[in-house]
Amino acid sequence: MNLTNISTVKDILSRHGFNFSKGLGQNFLINPDVCPKIAEMGNAREGYGVLEIGTGIGVLTKELALRAEKVSAVEIDTRLMPVLEETLKDFDNIKIYNEDVMKADLHKIISEDFAGLRTAVCANLPYYITSPVIMLLLESNLPIDSITVMVQKEAAQRLCAKVGSRESGAITVGVNYYGTVKQLFGVSRGSFMPSPNVDSAVIRIDLDKERRLSGDEEKFFFRMVKAGFSQRRKTFANSLSSMLGIAKDDVYSALSDLGISQSVRVEALTMDELTAVARKLM
Ligand code: SAM
Repeated sequence: MNLTNISTVKDILSRHGFNFSKGLGQNFLINPDVCPKIAEMGNAREGYGVLEIGTGIGVLTKELALRAEKVSAVEIDTRLMPVLEETLKDFDNIKIYNEDVMKADLHKIISEDFAGLRTAVCANLPYYITSPVIMLLLESNLPIDSITVMVQKEAAQRLCAKVGSRESGAITVGVNYYGTVKQLFGVSRGSFMPSPNVDSAVIRIDLDKERRLSGDEEKFFFRMVKAGFSQRRKTFANSLSSMLGIAKDDVYSALSDLGISQSVRVEALTMDELTAVARKLM
């Protein structure tokens, strides 16, 4: 079954009485070149189990299952379950979890389904939860090698920005703390059904960095970074005092000790500076 053929897809969806949900970010891929590329560039290969988030009708799931040993996919929309039973019926290495990825026990899924395998994550992410899903994957200490995801172009720019630049955000610090990130290729809005209002891009995060901080320090570091970026126009000291209740003088003295201006904004701080401030304020 060709899941990138528009009339095939329309036929399956109408037979199952399925209507797209905008709220769930349902824009399904119909460009035949994109899913094989995500699978190939996203570690879907021998020796790997791939965790997919958001299957839609299984267009990417299928390409992953053709290349990886196993695919476990989490899809929130119950209406898609009978559709997937039909579209993926020829595969015996796919397991679907009808759950919200933000609530699913990903540790359990990975340890039970991918025993003896390495793990990669691949997805065409629902755009309304791009950052929360990426932060969840990064912060949960899951044993994953890489996260290869399609995101909106603007989100890709933020993810791939330099820490310490105007374009950066809490998510930029997150990905650079845990690994290295790069943009793989762009995808035009016409590659989806229905077509969204923005273009997209596929990025890959390789989780290959040694941790700079211990567990508790790490928790504090991310609370500090999120507080800073939630009020990015304020000075870093003002954000930390209003969001985390840290005395402004304590922030000032930590910044001065490190030779950083007291009026600095979070977006101007490098990874080294952010980790050093976190250590001082903990
Ligand atoms: N992978 C398919 C494709 O490329 O055509 C579908 C991608 S579509 C952008 C996002 C998918 O994520 C939808 O199928 C949607 O129902 C699902 N989804 C949305 N929110 C979710 C959540 N919280 N947990 C799991 N899946 C979710």
